[in-house]
Amino acid sequence: MKMNQFVIIGLGRFGSSIGRELIQLGYEVLGVDSDEDTVQELSSVLTHAVVADATDEEVLRSLGARNFDCGVVAIGDDIQASILATILLKELGVKKVVAKAVSELHGRVLERIGVDRVIYPERDMGIRVAHQLVSPNLLDYIELSKKYTIAELAVPKCLTGKSLSEVNPRAKFGCSIVAINKPNGIIIAPNAEDVLVENDVMVVIGTNESIEEFQEATGS
Ligand code: ATP
Repeated sequence: MKMNQFVIIGLGRFGSSIGRELIQLGYEVLGVDSDEDTVQELSSVLTHAVVADATDEEVLRSLGARNFDCGVVAIGDDIQASILATILLKELGVKKVVAKAVSELHGRVLERIGVDRVIYPERDMGIRVAHQLVSPNLLDYIELSKKYTIAELAVPKCLTGKSLSEVNPRAKFGCSIVAINKPNGIIIAPNAEDVLVENDVMVVIGTNESIEEFQEATGS
């Protein structure tokens, strides 16, 4: 189902960042925060921004919260408020509710009350940054499962000028280059003759070990 209208509860750094980006992407966003100055700051950015206590059922009802496809609860410190706002959005019938957790236990409670997705921004960003620190050429990655990953790797100097048949990571390490992102466009499902140039970005799929071995062997 395509999401079109979003309600964001809590416009701190996390909530406001989601809101700004959704607006950039062309979506409608209602922002709710109990702090007047915060709402004032975002009123010219979001479609609507209102000062309200999101733990008040009548308030959420009168804002028409149930008409939104997706709700984001981005309250952190006040765990009680986060839980109450999440339950209210679910009960009002918001189709998809995503909530930020500040701790593992907070996340477990959110899951128990039926949130569709729990996000741990600091923990997850910390993990991501750690991976990037130990592999400077790792630009980004998606874990497909515990075993398999898709990684974006910057092409190191030693692979410059080499064709995929020369690099041949499938035979040597067991991972495959499924795309090459070059300054003038992306090559999906590249051929054996396609040539890598330093700072092109390889999109590599494989087991975690195979991708690590490929990185170690090429210094990427
Ligand atoms: P961030 O890291 O995103 O800046 P945070 O984890 O520090 O946020 P808080 O600052 O506690 O989280 O909360 C984010 C926002 O939620 C704040 O702007 C706060 O005013 C708002 N907020 C807290 N409780 C409520 C509530 N009951 N109703 C509406 N907004 C609330």
